[in-house]
Amino acid sequence: MSAYLKCIEKNCNKTMSSTSKAYVCPNCEGLLDVTYDFEIFDPEKIKQIFLKRRSSNSLLDLSGVWRYRELLPFCTDFSKVVSIQEGNTPVYEAPRCAKYVGLKKLNLKHQGLNPTGSFKDNGMTTGVTQANLLGSKIVACASTGNTSASMAAYAARAGIRAVIFIPDQQIGFGKLAQSLDYGATTIQLEGDFDESMRLVKEITLERDVYLLNSINPFRLEGQKAIIIELLCQQDWKVPDRIVVPGGNLGNSGSFGKAIKELYDLGFIEKMPMVTIIQAQRANPLYQTLIDRSPRLVKVEAQTLATAIKIGNPVSWKKAVRAMEWTRGWCDFVSEQEIADAKAIIGRDGIGCEPASATTVAGIRKLVQTKEIDPDEDVVAVLTGNLLKDPDYTVNYHQNSLYQEATYRNELLGKKDKIRSTFANGPIKVRADKEAILKVLGL
Ligand SMILES: *Cc1c(COP(=O)(O)O)cnc(C)c1O
Ligand SMILES: [Zn+2]
Repeated sequence: MSAYLKCIEKNCNKTMSSTSKAYVCPNCEGLLDVTYDFEIFDPEKIKQIFLKRRSSNSLLDLSGVWRYRELLPFCTDFSKVVSIQEGNTPVYEAPRCAKYVGLKKLNLKHQGLNPTGSFKDNGMTTGVTQANLLGSKIVACASTGNTSASMAAYAARAGIRAVIFIPDQQIGFGKLAQSLDYGATTIQLEGDFDESMRLVKEITLERDVYLLNSINPFRLEGQKAIIIELLCQQDWKVPDRIVVPGGNLGNSGSFGKAIKELYDLGFIEKMPMVTIIQAQRANPLYQTLIDRSPRLVKVEAQTLATAIKIGNPVSWKKAVRAMEWTRGWCDFVSEQEIADAKAIIGRDGIGCEPASATTVAGIRKLVQTKEIDPDEDVVAVLTGNLLKDPDYTVNYHQNSLYQEATYRNELLGKKDKIRSTFANGPIKVRADKEAILKVLGL
């Protein structure tokens, strides 16, 4: 089995060895794919092997990524694999969410239950394994928080130095805490994510530092396992639609690649539509599609869902490709819609971080506009854990969640409050039994 890197630009198609450290095409600066000459195999047999591995105790089989190694066959030496038993995340039926969005049934695949609390672990196990295969001594990334938390953990496991660049404001405290504890060198930069991204790219080009942002195609190989695992969990019954938040757009791009490969190899007979949901004021992909622009329409990103606060997403062309392959589309939701959807997900006993709630909010919007039929079989991917950003949640339930002011309100000196439609704040009571019973209505 041979793996190589290939430029995704149709009029270029340059290929390179899979041991190249390039993260864009040297000819045209296009994004790269890890590409395989898959050996023709029997999909039904491979499905049985995947199923059987769920009862195996070998390190590779315990991983919800490496268990599916036939579909990401770039690793030439399994002794170099760095795994913390990522993946293995549940699919939950969410009846309250279903009712809220207007669907008969809604499934949530909770990637927030990964070892470091986000789907970034699915990609980091393959990204850091590739760094290990290449013999890299230092890995780096720019991050809104979850990428750095995940990279820090995997680098620590591998004994590789981790350097992370984060914006000095607007990073969830849970995420920062993780990177510090896992021993990463943490550089806090003035400016936003897009600024951090630009600097880390320059530094990794000039020094022997391996870049592990989602522009790194090996990370996206691991994220394909989210789709593969989901389909295994559904006994290969293909849903009509998979809904995912869009930030840097690596994950949606990776979903597209997974679906296309599974289809081409005969694992599935139809493709689920990939629907990408962005935050209203961080919606460059939506703007680009609406404008039919051949170039990305960048925006100055503003949202409390910090994991998707990205105005210049690196992998946007892979997301466009995913939508083309699967007849998917992209939409956006407001801060208010995100906050309320998140509270409803919580009421199902599940919980997630704000960025993840764009999915449920987006499904609701698309059911209302009749783009989604109430009978559709829809899976929303919850990308991150509730505990990543506790401030947001507590503020919502205490009626004190403010979004960044619009330009107009800023001029007027007004704050923009988010209505706490489903508030469930703590109740202050005197330490007195009668008073407590009264409050409880007992
Ligand atoms: C990284 C992240 C996203 C955005 O994913 P992209 O691949 O950048 O589009 C969404 N939600 C959470 C919780 C994340 O950590
Ligand atoms: Zn190229």
